[in-house]
Amino acid sequence: MTASPIAPHRLGGPPTEMACATCGRILNTYRTPGGGVAHLHPTGPRDYDHRPAPVPADQLTAVARDCDFCSNPYPILSIRSGPVHAVTIGEDTQTSHNFGDTWAACISCARLVDAGKAAPLVRRALDRTSWATDAIAARAVQRIHATVLATRRPGATLITTTDWPHTPIPAATMPKARDAAVKLLRADATTLTMFEAPVRRAMADGLDQAHLYAVDDELTDLARHAATDLPAGTTLTAADLPVPHGLLRWAQPHGPHRVSAASWTSTNGEITIITYRALGARLPPEALQHLREDIGWLLPVTTIHVSQHTATAGDEVALLTATLLLIAQRCTEILETEPDQRIARAYRRSRRPLPAVRLVQLRGRAAHPRTGQPAPVPASAAPDRPAPNVRRWVSGFWRQQPYGPERSLRRWRYVFAYLRGPDTAPIAASTTVRVLGKIPPRPASQPTAPRREPSVPG
Ligand SMILES: [Zn+2]
Ligand SMILES: [Zn+2]
Repeated sequence: MTASPIAPHRLGGPPTEMACATCGRILNTYRTPGGGVAHLHPTGPRDYDHRPAPVPADQLTAVARDCDFCSNPYPILSIRSGPVHAVTIGEDTQTSHNFGDTWAACISCARLVDAGKAAPLVRRALDRTSWATDAIAARAVQRIHATVLATRRPGATLITTTDWPHTPIPAATMPKARDAAVKLLRADATTLTMFEAPVRRAMADGLDQAHLYAVDDELTDLARHAATDLPAGTTLTAADLPVPHGLLRWAQPHGPHRVSAASWTSTNGEITIITYRALGARLPPEALQHLREDIGWLLPVTTIHVSQHTATAGDEVALLTATLLLIAQRCTEILETEPDQRIARAYRRSRRPLPAVRLVQLRGRAAHPRTGQPAPVPASAAPDRPAPNVRRWVSGFWRQQPYGPERSLRRWRYVFAYLRGPDTAPIAASTTVRVLGKIPPRPASQPTAPRREPSVPG
């Protein structure tokens, strides 16, 4: 079996796509001369210290897939061509490589394919691999790319399984990130496999009107902690939502899909959630700019109809549920910020209302209103030591709380204690424990107005 110049594609389409259980890499499937099938690591600019352990790719939470054209590890669009076969003829063997008709492309290669630019596409492939000096391989790449371009089918499918490293989305970028996500949801030429068309349109309309929330580090920590304890069967209801449509960004990613944002929309009494991971880490500047223009900042990972789903403790839905319940129980403050000048001008030009980004933090935190970052610890708190690696949330539990007409309804309230400093450190006299058990009922007119809770010294 010879090394193929570009990754031979799967034989049977997505259901039988195989990945290595050890490294998560999508495996190439070869038809061997005896009629069998072999799954091998793709050849390319990396070595493997293990034998492939083939499992169906959809059993893994993250798969590592390369661009089929240039081997870039962050493909974003899957494009279709006519079926491509290559036959390798050796001295006494003949191996058939079925490349299939589906190709994973990074943003740069996707643009070159769409522009029909064969020469730079081949150059990218050869520049990034060790085949550049192999004239036979180079000719094979050329022939295969030429076939793909000549038989290209319209449209593309967004690849949502690529294991993008996390990259933070600044609060000030959220209006642009939201607009790009709306554009992606409305782009008919791009298939989003997690949506049926009507759902997709409803989600786009809701996201277009969404209020934008940027959750700071500390509240993200608390929400993640609270999400792991979320009582079984907890589901979001309309009463838990600060607004019918929202997009919320956490300061850190969560779970195996590195989800760092979620949006919710309410249509016809149904709450639908989309979770997202952040796109674009480790791309060179030009490719990053193309990604921002064509796709945006947010990669939709899953869509969930709340009525058909129960949050599992610790998962992304539990995280969103916990975060929104913390906001609903008014232990957070929400600071509205103005968009920056450039975004504001762009909105005025298109006669759209200015989007505010709402920075969400724990009540009583003196966060910087622009960055949403917690205020620095005063130097006197740690005179001679660098900042300790703190474990902030040392206790907390969910409790049923009555609300609504004659307090006939129940919802979960999180009761927690707050300590700054490592577990082993003595508790400083100034440590504050916030008691949240005696909050008056939320006034209906001002659902998210910040109000300080009494603090007691611990
Ligand atoms: Zn492997
Ligand atoms: Zn590529």
